[in-house]
Amino acid sequence: MARLFSSLFLGGIIFISYKKEYPCKKAAYKLSDMYTSVDMRLTNLYSLKTYPKYSNDFYYISKRVVCTVFHIVALFEFLAKLRKILVYAKESRIICFPFRIKTLTLQLKEMKSMEKLKNVKAIAFDADDTLWALQNYFEDVEHEYCELLAEYGKEKDISAALFETESKNMADLGYGCKAFTISLVENAVKVSHGKVEANVIAQIVDLGKSLLHLDAKPLEGVEKTLACFREMKKYKLAVFTKGELMDQENKLWRSGLQRYFDVVTIVSDKTPKAYHRLCRELDVTPDELVMVGNSFKSDIAPALKIGASAVHIPFHTTWAHEKTEEFEHPKLRRISRFEELLDIL
Ligand SMILES: [Mg+2]
Repeated sequence: MARLFSSLFLGGIIFISYKKEYPCKKAAYKLSDMYTSVDMRLTNLYSLKTYPKYSNDFYYISKRVVCTVFHIVALFEFLAKLRKILVYAKESRIICFPFRIKTLTLQLKEMKSMEKLKNVKAIAFDADDTLWALQNYFEDVEHEYCELLAEYGKEKDISAALFETESKNMADLGYGCKAFTISLVENAVKVSHGKVEANVIAQIVDLGKSLLHLDAKPLEGVEKTLACFREMKKYKLAVFTKGELMDQENKLWRSGLQRYFDVVTIVSDKTPKAYHRLCRELDVTPDELVMVGNSFKSDIAPALKIGASAVHIPFHTTWAHEKTEEFEHPKLRRISRFEELLDIL
């Protein structure tokens, strides 16, 4: 019975994930792998149940004790694996739980995190991985890149070298596809010690350029929510993104979302100074602005620093350069679905 329930439940998760635009098939494949492992655990549990239950014979009692220990270990293994699946499914935004088993403190914290933000006159939205998906495409390109350079090293080492090259180039090249493509080429020359062939370089450049033509399809709930805010006529709406001007403008145009925004600001980096400039452009004070985004480092921390509010919507994957330590703040709200913005604004 438990096995049937588990199969139906996990099968349901995988089915739902296929229905979604993102986090795409990759997440579903990972869930399938996890499910197979859970299924094996269940099979072990089932087989252990077939041992005799009662006997006074010493041999059977010993056997029963050993079986019980194995049974308990298998049960814990099963529960740990199941928990991993549920956490992964939640983080991937494949499913949203209608209930949560938490301590009272955490429940109160969550209630607090859904309190409405007050005094807001303008909402600024990050673009990449907030309005549309991007990081997963970069990761796919990086994976293909490592395969092209497989003869010069392991994927892990080439990726680590690429991270280092990107970090060094950041100050001069900034963020975006062009900067990424230059780093891909520079790193290919570096890891191959100058031996990489011209035709491989050409393939690497094509890989980088493929990122300039993504469809920038709005993530789930984005368009509906923006339409609601537009209809309210209560807030000024802005896109506040970093990256390359032409690339970001093109993505916004391809997304079809440009009609919802009063202001579009593209900057080389989201510093507190840039947030102050955005406030001036929107004609609001910092405490009348709320910044919505997936990156705690670029969207949340600097906005809170100038006295604005912030709403964090984590994406299922984060660029290594955007990882930072998170903290709590009275003006910070955390949500898992874009539509939940309507509950706090
Ligand atoms: Mg982002």
